[in-house]
Amino acid sequence: MRSYWDTTAWQAYDVVVIGGGIIGISTAISCAERHPDHRIVVLERGHIPFGATTRNAGFACFGSLSEIAHDIDLMGIDAAHDLVRMRLDGLRMLMQRCGADDIAYRNDGGSEVFLEDHPALARIDDVNAILRDVLNQNAFHERNDLRAAYGLSHDVVALIHTSHEGTLHSGKMLRRLWKLAAERGVEIRTGTTVTSITSDYSSVRIHCESVQQTIDIRCSHVVVATNAMIPSLVRSSAIPTILPGRGQVLVTEPIPGLSLRGSFHMDEGYYYFRELDGRVLVGGGRNIDIDGEATLSHDTTQRIQDVLEHVLRNVILPHHPSINIEHRWAGTMAFTESKQPVVAVAEPNVIVAFGCNGMGIALGSALGDLCADLLDQQKWAHHQLVTRP
Ligand SMILES: Cc1cc2nc3c(=O)[nH]c(=O)nc-3n(C[C@H](O)[C@H](O)[C@H](O)COP(=O)(O)OP(=O)(O)OC[C@H]3O[C@@H](n4cnc5c(N)ncnc54)[C@H](O)[C@@H]3O)c2cc1C
Repeated sequence: MRSYWDTTAWQAYDVVVIGGGIIGISTAISCAERHPDHRIVVLERGHIPFGATTRNAGFACFGSLSEIAHDIDLMGIDAAHDLVRMRLDGLRMLMQRCGADDIAYRNDGGSEVFLEDHPALARIDDVNAILRDVLNQNAFHERNDLRAAYGLSHDVVALIHTSHEGTLHSGKMLRRLWKLAAERGVEIRTGTTVTSITSDYSSVRIHCESVQQTIDIRCSHVVVATNAMIPSLVRSSAIPTILPGRGQVLVTEPIPGLSLRGSFHMDEGYYYFRELDGRVLVGGGRNIDIDGEATLSHDTTQRIQDVLEHVLRNVILPHHPSINIEHRWAGTMAFTESKQPVVAVAEPNVIVAFGCNGMGIALGSALGDLCADLLDQQKWAHHQLVTRP
């Protein structure tokens, strides 16, 4: 049995956020900034965060030329334009919160490399025109001169560059955000796995397990930001299907004389690489085994790692034949069929946020702010509900 002190001080909150990744912690920060008097707690299953936010590639990007061209075909010009705007707004908010130095942000630009002719290359002027009001200048430029400067293979037939993309240290970024949340009065409980949520119109009960303890927390509202794991806690026909996708990465040893700078996209975003502290990080390859990579597992696989090494040795570092790999890891992303992110009320007083579709560094802060908007509306709606005669 819990004591009176436990139930009133440790098990009652205004807002509970489940998941300490970029969306969860950004939600907590936005809520705390709007309502300094609210009791807000973030529940994170890992002793340190254990999600995509600290397993990604650290691209602060808004979409490459071929990705945006694809988005325009998929969702139409207006929706693709607004999605780019949301990514850029999210990046601005992130930089305002964190500052460049604390998260090792570098603005060396981003490039998309093509190994063969691609229809998107002929659409560069159209895409630039669509995005001009968001960036106040052209987003993309053809810069084939950079292929040699970066030491890339002669197989690269075209290089499209943007100066609006940067790279950062994802671990430092999330640590900075956690610190900021704590400074705003947010409590963060690590090693706490939420196993169920029960909601009604008056409150939400959250059942958690941590080391040698199970605990029930009551709150007015909960935000579930557990990425592709959301369906294990919330099953609702009110939200679009979440499609999990594993992303795999490798990082080389330090490479003397490395001329690669900035971040790179290839094959409509299915491959990506960047310079990282004098090393090369390569990721992607999901397209060669879409079904196999639709998993929540954090294991790496030989098949994908071999493809990443092939790209490393043949496209990125053709002049460095024997490079050792020092790090390999994987993480899970949450995709949606529409490629649109989702912030929605799934059940009474239960909000879900997901669907960064591989661009959570850009979208995470913006989605956190949208969650805070929705929480404010929910409170208003709830107020209406209980005070209606
Ligand atoms: C390999 C890879 C490379 C990527 N590269 C980039 C990139 O370069 N740029 C970019 O913008 N995006 C990139 N992404 C995508 C980006 O990382 C994600 O979009 C983003 O991190 C999603 O954030 P999130 O807060 O939704 O989820 P997460 O960061 O996954 O956070 C969810 C948290 O919930 C916790 N959790 C889960 N279940 C429970 C539970 N039951 N109880 C308590 N806690 C729980 C998890 O431990 C986790 O910490 C990449 C992703 C991967 C996997």
